[in-house]
Amino acid sequence: MNKNPYEVLGVARDASDADIKKAYHKLVMKYHPDKNPGDKSAEEKFKEVNNAFDILKDPQKRAAYDRFGDAAFAGGNGASAGAGFGGNPFGNGAFHFDMGGGAGMEDILREAMRGFGFGGFEGGGRGTTSGARAGRDLLDEVVIDLRDAYFGTTHTVKFTSNITCEKCNGNGTSDGKPAPKCARCGGTGYVRTGSGFFAMETPCPECNGLGRKIDKKCSECDGTGRIRKTRTLDVKIPAGIEDGARLRLAGQGEAGQNGGPAGDFYLDIRVRPDKRFERVGADLISRIEIPFTTLALGGEIEIETIDDKKLSVKVPAGTQVGARLRVRGHGMPGRRVGSFGDLYIEVAVNIPTKLTDKQKKALQEFAGIKPDKKSWF
Ligand SMILES: [Zn+2]
Ligand SMILES: [Zn+2]
Repeated sequence: MNKNPYEVLGVARDASDADIKKAYHKLVMKYHPDKNPGDKSAEEKFKEVNNAFDILKDPQKRAAYDRFGDAAFAGGNGASAGAGFGGNPFGNGAFHFDMGGGAGMEDILREAMRGFGFGGFEGGGRGTTSGARAGRDLLDEVVIDLRDAYFGTTHTVKFTSNITCEKCNGNGTSDGKPAPKCARCGGTGYVRTGSGFFAMETPCPECNGLGRKIDKKCSECDGTGRIRKTRTLDVKIPAGIEDGARLRLAGQGEAGQNGGPAGDFYLDIRVRPDKRFERVGADLISRIEIPFTTLALGGEIEIETIDDKKLSVKVPAGTQVGARLRVRGHGMPGRRVGSFGDLYIEVAVNIPTKLTDKQKKALQEFAGIKPDKKSWF
């Protein structure tokens, strides 16, 4: 995954073009290979700085990054590359539709194309009629800790998008009532031009494809039926969520127009790898160092679970390094409600480096070596 270009350049999200350029020049001088011959980390930094600037200097790429994050530039040879924007906007198969579902790749692609200024799908889709336009889908990403994935959490997103104008109920009229059907197109929003084989449907010039003719526009939204507003959404992230899952909040995207349905809001979940626990499905693996005497003789060790509980685990006599001790039900919440995976303690050993004479003697005796048999050493 690429680094956040704003972080790489050390500039704020709303930095001006001039500030970005300034930061870039400073860093590029600092990490230039000519100035750091043979320094691999400087070389890496130099590349990062160039990649970051490549994104932030281009208003379209920058907007794409702000909208889609890193996913906008992952991959680079996806099917959509031919459509004319820089690389596959959604990386290589990084997207899943685990929760809710309902959206297909076409929806996402359509959204991406709109986001990149391709109008090809506007007005179509979702079975809309008479000039109704569906609102756009919105996409955000959040990175959470494994512990949050265990308990579930709430992520609050704040964003600005088009919502239905309350003053006119989205009708765009000064009195808030639906505007009468456009006489020219009969409310379809389209007119036919030409005839026979060459007949074409084009947006109605009278009503700009809306299908309705507004005489007096709403003062709040200027007749569009929508206003820009900053909203916050509390997205509940369920316990047991997996890395790469996508949550869908139906109807929480941008407002539709002229009676069209609202888009959906998607939240992509990334789960940060944990230092103590490796996740395999619903199971967790934790590598624990155990004194070799306990492994040989058997005993009990105390471990900490992902939900911060202390647990005593029996170690059978003769346990080998690399063995896995299963602790039932202390893994991650499973897909079935109320189910949990298991926790596996992967046995490692801690060999003491400092031994007292007494300990040495005991070990030598254990090994069957008499201390006076110097020739053995
Ligand atoms: Zn019309
Ligand atoms: Zn309005």
